[in-house]
Amino acid sequence: MTNSNRNYRSCSLSPCGRPVPAGQLTMRKLLLLSGGMDSSLCLYKVPGIELCVGFDYGQPHVIELDYAKEIATACGVEFRRVGIPKMPRIDDAVFPARNAVLLSMAASIAVSQNLDAIVIGCNMSDAARFPDCRDEFIAEIGKALSVYGVSVLAPLLAMTKADILSEARSFGIPSTWTCYQPNGKLPCGECYACLGLENARVQS
Ligand SMILES: [Zn+2]
Repeated sequence: MTNSNRNYRSCSLSPCGRPVPAGQLTMRKLLLLSGGMDSSLCLYKVPGIELCVGFDYGQPHVIELDYAKEIATACGVEFRRVGIPKMPRIDDAVFPARNAVLLSMAASIAVSQNLDAIVIGCNMSDAARFPDCRDEFIAEIGKALSVYGVSVLAPLLAMTKADILSEARSFGIPSTWTCYQPNGKLPCGECYACLGLENARVQS
């Protein structure tokens, strides 16, 4: 598959389903691509993604970046793996302030590459567990990073995991990685991410 034959569908690029300002469609975008289903769907759904970035922050599930590279390559989009200092983890899934750190690093890269916006796959199902997946956080950090001329777009904010799984299937997205505590190259089946995906499968 190449970049040109990704089959884009119309989508709301703004938080909470607000109308999309026309300027967003033509923005040149950086995608935070973890290799999971959410950010992978963004790659298929959002036009104008010119660079995918996957961060190695010392996560036990760094295997996800192999999936990210494969998906970006299949779509004909450059993938850049960027190492940053190891982030502390306080339970199976929470790395405090992770999205604040990753969005700030992404803004630095976006400005250096003359890109206009950062796309992140935050969604409704993660909002309860992660405060930095909530629309108010995205709106506030978007305001802060706008001083650098970079917008933050979260096109999945109004979607649940079941919605995302269903749309990912309809695009025929190849395999993605969803597990925070892998056993070697296999998902554990028990962590927050594995249980969330299983729940989405039941609902969709
Ligand atoms: Zn797991």
